[in-house]
Amino acid sequence: MTEMQLSLINFPYRETLSTIFQDYSNDFEFTASGIFRKIVPPLCPECGYPMSHNGFNTCQKGLLGEANVGKYLCGACGKSTQEDRDFWIKLKANFFGIITGICTRLRLNHVSYEVIESIMSHLYPRDKDTIQNMVQCAIEDMEVPLVKNIQFVHYDEQHPKAGRNQKYRLTLLDSVTRQVIAEELFDSKDADTIEGFLRRNLDTQKQIFIVTDLYRGYSDVFKRVFGNKVIHQFCLLHLNKLIVNDFPRKTSIEQELVKYRLLNIFYNREPEIEYLSCLIEEEKTMKQISSREYKSWIGEAKNLFHKFVRDLELKRRRENKNLVQRDYHDALNNFKCLKRESDSFNISVRKRLARIEELWPNLTAFYFVDNAPATNNPIENYYSTSLKTHRKKQLEELGINEQMKLSALKRAGVFGKPQKTLLEAFFMFIPFLDTG
Ligand SMILES: [Zn+2]
Repeated sequence: MTEMQLSLINFPYRETLSTIFQDYSNDFEFTASGIFRKIVPPLCPECGYPMSHNGFNTCQKGLLGEANVGKYLCGACGKSTQEDRDFWIKLKANFFGIITGICTRLRLNHVSYEVIESIMSHLYPRDKDTIQNMVQCAIEDMEVPLVKNIQFVHYDEQHPKAGRNQKYRLTLLDSVTRQVIAEELFDSKDADTIEGFLRRNLDTQKQIFIVTDLYRGYSDVFKRVFGNKVIHQFCLLHLNKLIVNDFPRKTSIEQELVKYRLLNIFYNREPEIEYLSCLIEEEKTMKQISSREYKSWIGEAKNLFHKFVRDLELKRRRENKNLVQRDYHDALNNFKCLKRESDSFNISVRKRLARIEELWPNLTAFYFVDNAPATNNPIENYYSTSLKTHRKKQLEELGINEQMKLSALKRAGVFGKPQKTLLEAFFMFIPFLDTG
């Protein structure tokens, strides 16, 4: 342990100083004037002659402080050396590790580097490029714990009536084999019933990817049963059903277009959007002429549109294709565009957009797990060969790549409680504060 020459100035920091220098032997001293050096100067590395103390070099870090590291001079050959400064490098690494941790968490929550820069200007100013560099290096260094043996499961409920009694039929289906894992009939479907059902029928020690509809609050039950081993996906087809139900049966072309733009977030509905966009101007004109004219026009226009949609469906069925799933990047973009225009939509659409934003991690979980199902419709395999090209495209996107790794790390529980706060790291610099 380094010998501390305590002075009035550094006396209050003796504990901090002894922590900082704990890895050094008793050959070292920290002088009353704040120089870290060997008590007995070393032998000259060139000629072997005993060197002598010869002042110090100052290590500095903006806003944090400065430390003086002893220099030695050889009286025989004139060689000059400097004491090891690992303690200083370690202090800085601790501090910037926490800064990087804060920035990485902000990235994890989709905060832009511009905004992170402005937040950091309140804590410890760093420019955008430096932050980006720190975060990307940190992410590269982190290892995603390998998930093996993940079980992909669909969960759903039915509410049949047995005579006059309401019954609840809970079903678990294996996504890969499409086989029923368990199916039981209950008189209630409260949280305890579901919990017992899951515990009896699934391996709770194994990582699980489970798809449900958006209705009920399963998340708490899943967390209780599986802890952090569960990835919960909301069925995207169910989301689409809810979107359709947000609109009245008799929509205007304008409303119909908003509906299809919502459906377009996760699935490619460009043909329908294009079709409707062409009618928008005509609808405005027809509305101006007279309500009677408009009424007959909209009836006809909607009939033709429904036929167009039906024909697209039939074509897909003939070709044995499903609606094309969007990649993550496009889904996020489409959602962001709608969200930006949110104020111009009516209340039910605004609410739906807010809900999608709130549930975003559960709607998009499947993007981040290979071969994971996005819907609770195990008959239709949306994650077939066509999606593999989407994955490749994603990987070319640096930002997406970063988000994928971050999400994987988050799911793996890498981002737990921090071991040290920024303030704790900062306090270690107090003995070195540049008060001049
Ligand atoms: Zn020498």
